[in-house]
Amino acid sequence: RLADLVERGVPLADWPRGWFSVAQPVRLAGPLLSGRPRRGEALRRAMRQGRDAALHEIRLAGLRGCGGAGFSTGLKWRLAKEAVGAARYVTCNADEGEPGTFKDRLLLARRPDLVFEGMSVAGYVIGAKRGLLYLRGEYAYLMPHLRATLRRRHAEGLLGNRVLGTDFSFDIDIQLGAGAYVCGEETALLESLEGRRGIPRLRPPYPVSAGYLGGPTVNNNVETLAWAAHILARGAAGFRARGTAQSPGGKLLSIAGDVAAPGVYEFDFGITVREVLMACGAADTQAVQVGGPSGVLISAADFDRRIAFEDLSTGGAFTVFDASRDLVDIARQFTHFFAFESCGLCTPCRVGTQLLARAADQLADGRAGGADLRRIEETGRLMRQTSHCGLGQTAANPLLDLLSRFRPLCESRLRGDGFAPDAVDGRRPC
Ligand code: NAD
Repeated sequence: RLADLVERGVPLADWPRGWFSVAQPVRLAGPLLSGRPRRGEALRRAMRQGRDAALHEIRLAGLRGCGGAGFSTGLKWRLAKEAVGAARYVTCNADEGEPGTFKDRLLLARRPDLVFEGMSVAGYVIGAKRGLLYLRGEYAYLMPHLRATLRRRHAEGLLGNRVLGTDFSFDIDIQLGAGAYVCGEETALLESLEGRRGIPRLRPPYPVSAGYLGGPTVNNNVETLAWAAHILARGAAGFRARGTAQSPGGKLLSIAGDVAAPGVYEFDFGITVREVLMACGAADTQAVQVGGPSGVLISAADFDRRIAFEDLSTGGAFTVFDASRDLVDIARQFTHFFAFESCGLCTPCRVGTQLLARAADQLADGRAGGADLRRIEETGRLMRQTSHCGLGQTAANPLLDLLSRFRPLCESRLRGDGFAPDAVDGRRPC
């Protein structure tokens, strides 16, 4: 049992293969996954340079947020550094809830020092004394491993009072989420960290000016912080030299679905979808979901597009569906996922996700007519424009992409088209 492994303190590396808890295999490692900055190297280098120079290095590298939105990390840190407020904080978003993404889990399992080091460097730059890592509820089994890493960092003077004998003091706590997808939204995460139900706040103000307990807060994704530490340890030039002009550096992709070799891959930004599919041994690919269900579902017509913030941006999920898959059923399942995870705060999301779930059932079961397709599009557009947070704004994506990129497939499922629910062209559900 999972609990036995945790209680017996079995190292993660020795857990049985195939357990969901064991990180997916690393298939293609680049500098982030295979490079070895020594523990403390980034922090020592940042502290030798001073706050402004360390921040300059991050800006020079052009690092952008790896949670999916791609906001400039250097700008985020500068805004938090310059914001008015006595107590500042660094929060790490380890609530990796997007279906199909597991690269943060791998980083936490294999490179926790790099993640904590990124938090410490951010704390040093903005003048924070406290960092909090918000760990996805389903990753609770990582807790002993992460705590042991924090203890080691304390023992080596990399955390706590007077870090490395300087006047900089910084400590990190870990707080466990309870399994709500919406808590990956940064302000819902802050609410949850403060002990309340995870409901997104209105933005602005952004966390950089009013975040955890109202203080200026840098909230970054696990991978962003790991890259930040890597950049500080190795310098900005190597990072900047990779990727594209607008999306420098590398990106971890969680590759899953109908591929010969699923796992975590480290690519340079700018790689095409087709190249990724070749690398992971995909064949007869019908569709790829880039960025999870809140991202985009593309067809073969888009396989020459690039993984980059200026083209296809992704928090890391890259899920492949071959020609045997029933995409209508897949869109239906993801639509139900969003309906289940809606926090219920705003009407467009609370009601819209329910309406879409019902419409998706009708479509998948061959009970929808042409007017239903139009209604899905109208509801989806309305939700995109009026929902309070990213959940409601993106919940219609699986259905909207299905309708725009796989229209004939949807039309073949309409009422009166000879559809037989038990034999959908021999296609398998997800
Ligand atoms: P966003 O673009 O609104 O914000 C991105 C970041 O930039 C936030 O930290 C925000 O505080 C900051 N920011 C934006 N404008 C700012 C400003 N004017 N001043 C200061 N800071 C500013 O995006 P979002 O709604 O926070 O996140 C959406 C993204 O999350 C999507 O791209 C989606 O792909 C991704 N996502 C990821 C997961 C996952 O599991 N990794 C799950 C769901 C969604």
